[in-house]
Amino acid sequence: MVDCKKKRIVIVGSGFAGLGMASRLLENGIDDFVILEKSDGVGGTWRYNTYPGAECDIASMLYSFSFAPNPAWDFKWAKQPQILNYLEKFTNDRDLYKYIKFGEKVTDAIYKKGRWDIKTKNGLTYNCQFFISAIGQLHHPSVPNFKGKDKFIGSSFHSSEWDHSVKYEGKKIGVIGVGASAAQLIPELAKGAKRLTVYQRTPNWIINKHDRPYSSFEKWLAKKIPFLSKIYRLSLWCQGEFLIWPVIKGAKLRGSLVRRLNNLEIKKNVKNRDKASKLIPDYAVGAKRILLSDKYYRAIGQNNVTLETSTISRIGKRSVETINGNKHDHDIIVYATGFHTNPFLKEINVVGKSGFTLKENWKDGAFAYLGVTTHKFPNMFMLYGPNTNTGHTSIIYKLEAQFEHILKLLSITDDGIIEVRGSVEKQYNIQAQKKLSRLAWSKIEASWYKDGGRVTNNWYGSSYEYNRRLRAPIIKNFIVTTPQIK
Ligand code: NAP
Repeated sequence: MVDCKKKRIVIVGSGFAGLGMASRLLENGIDDFVILEKSDGVGGTWRYNTYPGAECDIASMLYSFSFAPNPAWDFKWAKQPQILNYLEKFTNDRDLYKYIKFGEKVTDAIYKKGRWDIKTKNGLTYNCQFFISAIGQLHHPSVPNFKGKDKFIGSSFHSSEWDHSVKYEGKKIGVIGVGASAAQLIPELAKGAKRLTVYQRTPNWIINKHDRPYSSFEKWLAKKIPFLSKIYRLSLWCQGEFLIWPVIKGAKLRGSLVRRLNNLEIKKNVKNRDKASKLIPDYAVGAKRILLSDKYYRAIGQNNVTLETSTISRIGKRSVETINGNKHDHDIIVYATGFHTNPFLKEINVVGKSGFTLKENWKDGAFAYLGVTTHKFPNMFMLYGPNTNTGHTSIIYKLEAQFEHILKLLSITDDGIIEVRGSVEKQYNIQAQKKLSRLAWSKIEASWYKDGGRVTNNWYGSSYEYNRRLRAPIIKNFIVTTPQIK
């Protein structure tokens, strides 16, 4: 057992959330923490997702820390290597590497009398006062258990576990799924594939990115006049907040604009009428993530690309078969089939007060007060927890609000114990679900935003509203036990 009694805080995960939290702790004079990271480097999702074409679908000037602006982004929507590089540089610049223990996969987090035992697969135990989960929402690949899947003798892998030793040029490739990851990798594969078959279950609403590289003059301006970058960042935030968020709330005019833009792009790029008709969604705009791509429909329109919409019945030794009797030969199958997003923290056995587990707590779907704290789990904070995801803006903006929220809770708790009141959390959750039921996300039977009938992943309001509530915590909503009366 590693005796870490002097560690005040354990952060699990070193993606945007864990690194940003660590940096803000240091800036507030708190250096008594350790970051446990299961992989051998920082970056989280931006380390794992290396598929061809991987990039961000939120503009990078907004998808970056406000307290670590980067005037050197090459494209409006940065590519994965540059985002990973940004995080590695951030870790270096802020001297965070010395706080990180790599190769430490957390298996258990057990609360006992005001402290947490955080156990890892290596058999170590880190004892701390505060446990901060920064593990993200999208990191357990979901691969459907298709009949015959394991008998396939070609190469197959999930989009987030890309096998770069496999050459895809000139090959017969099947991509299963058409979500945000698929929309980025399909145009790249389509360029060189002999034949690419795209297996689509549900089409998406897609609008153009109008991506372009930043000119050296723009980069120079961003570096020399940081105020300009701030104004630009604000304008990007406003676009999400005032153009896309109303669509999710059901604004008719803006919704029909997205539909028109989507349909126009299909008409322009996909000349085969049968193919084109299969690309138009029949559900509310915004119910699933609205995708951004300049290249997707162009790729689908290519002659070497087949759009298969019949349900997959089985996978053969070298093929995928569908229930309408189609059989497509493949050298490679890519599972762009998303992630298990529920329950949150699914791989960690989290045990709170009186042996109560997070799994029991969330048996009907995850919830947490403002996505950060949950009753019966004192001194535990979540970053990017339940009901904090967004479909219209940068998650980094919301993470920054969570950092400040946690810093305030840490300061009022000092060396005591803090726990959100059960009644407050319950009331908050009832209200959240009521508001969520009116949004586009509830107007579809299933998506990764939902667990059964409940939207468990997304926040119900604007990101401004979230930020406002997080930055001014209502102290009476928490039970704070000071050391004297502990
Ligand atoms: P996803 O959006 O959940 O898409 C999964 C796809 O697989 C869907 O098309 C789904 O169809 C399909 N699928 C699942 N099971 C299937 C089955 N049994 N048979 C046929 N198709 C099946 O996953 P993702 O594309 O990995 O994206 C997940 C999230 O990651 C995104 O929403 C986004 O938040 C994030 N992401 C972000 C970026 C970025 O640029 N920032 C890039 C990539 C991903 P159905 O729709 O019918 O279920």
